[in-house]
Amino acid sequence: MNTIHRILAALSITLVFGCLAWAQQPSVAPRVFINPGHGGHDSNDRPSPFFNVGVSDTVPYYESDSNILKGKSLMDILRKKGYEVMTTRVNNTSADDLDLFEIMSLAANSGADMFFAIHSNATGVKRKMNFPLGLYRGETGKPVAAGSDSISRLIMNHLFENRATSWTRDNPMLAGDWTFYDWGPKVGLGVLRYNKLPGLLSEGSFHDYIPERCRLLNHEYCWLEAWNQSLGIDDWFGKGNSYGKGVVAGRLLSKSSPRSDSDQLFGDDNYRPFNHARVTLSRGGKKQVYYTDYVENGFFLFPELEPGEYELVAETAAAQVLGRCKVTVSPNKVTYRNFLSEVPVGLN
Ligand SMILES: [Zn+2]
Repeated sequence: MNTIHRILAALSITLVFGCLAWAQQPSVAPRVFINPGHGGHDSNDRPSPFFNVGVSDTVPYYESDSNILKGKSLMDILRKKGYEVMTTRVNNTSADDLDLFEIMSLAANSGADMFFAIHSNATGVKRKMNFPLGLYRGETGKPVAAGSDSISRLIMNHLFENRATSWTRDNPMLAGDWTFYDWGPKVGLGVLRYNKLPGLLSEGSFHDYIPERCRLLNHEYCWLEAWNQSLGIDDWFGKGNSYGKGVVAGRLLSKSSPRSDSDQLFGDDNYRPFNHARVTLSRGGKKQVYYTDYVENGFFLFPELEPGEYELVAETAAAQVLGRCKVTVSPNKVTYRNFLSEVPVGLN
């Protein structure tokens, strides 16, 4: 082999291995591992049937149903935003309610950059409250996996922006699980115990507060929590303004009809919501309609909106106007509009 050939051979080796090395570069898409909590609709799944005023009957509630709705919505939203997403379950059966060791093993082998467990909270006592709580492994302010406290703060701050609910604190709560639970040194939450990834367990709101439980029965309300979770995840991975779509959400409530289906009521939850009311969002001759459901939350939501000016009109099923207003949709934000009408519930 002469000199020219040696140089060409060396170059081609460099090119071949250079290309291989380039092709094997890890994906730049952030990877999020999602664990929607509990599941299976069995006795371990904490069934909480309750009397729902909107349907005048007892309806089921499982925390796992709202957890999985949030989890599936978050997977969908994050994938649209360019993330790689893994989850422990997409169905709500006993078989896919994995034990904690399996969840830890899957998370450890997933190559994920972040672990995210989705739950809602309960006081377990007569006194009710409602706020987001982010729990990470370690002592408060000293997470075992670096960054877990920051991730928790970013996500909880976005959950707390939700104005389609009534919070009972002025800010979300953040804590290390060793500090939060008095279970002995370094015990903490089982699902975080073996986990090495930065992340948290999110208690998005309190499902034993009846007005919030009524909201958690609504699929779009669960979608809204997932959207707000995604904004915090965007903040952490520096993808803050990458998506560009906005959301409009709110509640239809009657100032003339006091709510009475809960021992304790906070803020606008003192007013009864309008079931099966019609909310119309229009812009440039194009209309979208959302009907509030029957389960006593008055919640409405319009996702995936192009930024700009819209008109929002709320009416009862009998076309009695509850309110109308202009709304501005901004990218990566939720515009909240709660209508507090003088129209009483029940005559419409
Ligand atoms: Zn839970």
